[in-house]
Amino acid sequence: MTPPRDLLFARLAEAGRRLERRGWALGTSGNFSAVTWRDPLRIAITASGLDKSALTAADIVEVDESARAVGGNGKPSAETHLHVAVVKTRGAGAVMHTHSVWSTLLSRAHAKEGGLAIEGFEMLKGLAGVATHEHREWIPIVPNAQDMPPLAARVEALLGEHPACHAFLLERHGLYTWGADIAEAVRHVEILEFLMECVAREERRA
Ligand SMILES: [Zn+2]
Repeated sequence: MTPPRDLLFARLAEAGRRLERRGWALGTSGNFSAVTWRDPLRIAITASGLDKSALTAADIVEVDESARAVGGNGKPSAETHLHVAVVKTRGAGAVMHTHSVWSTLLSRAHAKEGGLAIEGFEMLKGLAGVATHEHREWIPIVPNAQDMPPLAARVEALLGEHPACHAFLLERHGLYTWGADIAEAVRHVEILEFLMECVAREERRA
């Protein structure tokens, strides 16, 4: 069941502050969302251009399935279209988008292969449905763009091609991951950022 709207807004702001503290949403980057209602679809998302270290429940805007503001405060980010795409294709309850150094470097280094494979790490078991370190996680990489509706359509197609993936990267931009609720989506950010830092540091040594 979806928590009451006020509680959900507060949890979303808390999640944003937590991820900013780790350096994954600096300089007003990143955005964080959660579904408040399924039918008709309503998504709460952090408003555009905010310092994520100081987020409160008053910084959340609510949007419809076309990424148009229908409530709350502020202007939704253009990237809201990508959150809506993930919610629609994955049935996610929450979506987190971060701009970390390691995800940015890896998204560039692996762009030619169209994605990044991570396998053999115990921390993979932090991803929903993964029970062994022998799991191979494929994180697709999408070329970055500024025109969001076509990029959202590309992301929807990509998620259809990779039904088991827990995340995707925008090239030289950042990470999108999601979960059944805010707690699971935040866990996925932490797990994936840990794994990407391991992979990137290993690659730099090799
Ligand atoms: Zn971004």
